[in-house]
Amino acid sequence: MATRSRSCPVVTLRTVPTASPAGPLVTPDRLHTARDVAAESGVDLLVVTPGSDLRYLCGYAAHAMERLTALAVPRRGAPFLVVPRLEAPMVDASPAAGLGLEVLAWDETDDPFALLARAATARLGAAPARVAVGDRAWALHALGVQRALPRAALELAGPVVDRLRMVKTPAEVAELAAAGAAIDRVHARMGEWLRVGRTEAEVGADVAAAILAEGHVAVDFTIVGSGPNGASPHHELSDRVVADGDLVVVDIGGETATGYRSDCTRTYAVGRAPGPEVAEWYAVLQQAQAAATAAVRPGVSAEAVDAAAREVIAAAGWGEHFIHRTGHGIGLDTHEAPYIVAGNDLPLAPGMAFSVEPGIYLPGRCGARIEDIVVCTADGVSALNEGPRELLTLPG
Ligand code: ZN
Ligand code: ZN
Ligand code: ZN
Repeated sequence: MATRSRSCPVVTLRTVPTASPAGPLVTPDRLHTARDVAAESGVDLLVVTPGSDLRYLCGYAAHAMERLTALAVPRRGAPFLVVPRLEAPMVDASPAAGLGLEVLAWDETDDPFALLARAATARLGAAPARVAVGDRAWALHALGVQRALPRAALELAGPVVDRLRMVKTPAEVAELAAAGAAIDRVHARMGEWLRVGRTEAEVGADVAAAILAEGHVAVDFTIVGSGPNGASPHHELSDRVVADGDLVVVDIGGETATGYRSDCTRTYAVGRAPGPEVAEWYAVLQQAQAAATAAVRPGVSAEAVDAAAREVIAAAGWGEHFIHRTGHGIGLDTHEAPYIVAGNDLPLAPGMAFSVEPGIYLPGRCGARIEDIVVCTADGVSALNEGPRELLTLPG
């Protein structure tokens, strides 16, 4: 995997492999399907700027910056890429080159938005009336498109692009499974780092190094929530020292070379064993996580999976301590559709990948969460994380 460092120290650009054992990762049909779905919903033009939508649709893992890079998919005519001329060689080196996309390179003194508007209008035969812009586009770029197409109504591209991205191909599931196995290997080594007397930050630094060593190219997050910090679900790291008898929530994830993500939580008991009350509600949490996982199959709604976890926790009297949704989709982003939350009646379909991560949080005391990534299969569910889900006891 070639990694080219760019002038910006934190950003790296990678080429994406076009094939994996399970088949090609980026295929031209994504652009065709995106165009068809956009046309079906009455959208005249899709505009997607650097980020996971762009990488998904055409394989170009561009970095976001002020200069406009945009994939434009008109409902009629060929899709095209607008890129700064100095970066045109990077498009040639990416899988996008194999898709036959026309590349419109702009010079430093050109107006790239006018270029995009002209090319789209020429293909459509008229200026587009409805333009869908990627959900995570910079305002700078969305407003630039609006300025160049003053009569167009802008809307989010999420409803179009998410419909594609939510359902993973076998090649994508293979990438998520590899990411899941990599993060499982990190959890399996937790006893090397998580000990009484060490700070969360020290533990987190070791975990981050292991996330890279075990098969990721970047660390997305390292949550080490010890003792009372475990009651804050998105607590990251602090200088708190792990104490004897602490529960510690460890939620970690990274990005693999192909851009797919891992995300897995286990809760550890460090040193002396926790009391019987902890064992009791932890058992409830584990039942809730198992119930939600078991509820997954095609046709079941996302909110029914959330309810499956929530009902177990509520029935045991801990409902008010489960303060977040049960899960989120995962792919080229750690959080993406489908969201496993009350109100989302989306029926699950084979290939949908998401987390199942109920938690119980006791403010001021501690918390626990169990999180696996699962995939909806033709007849049920398959878990991509396989480490033990019991409260894991580490010697102090
Ligand atoms: Zn989260
Ligand atoms: Zn997580
Ligand atoms: Zn998660």
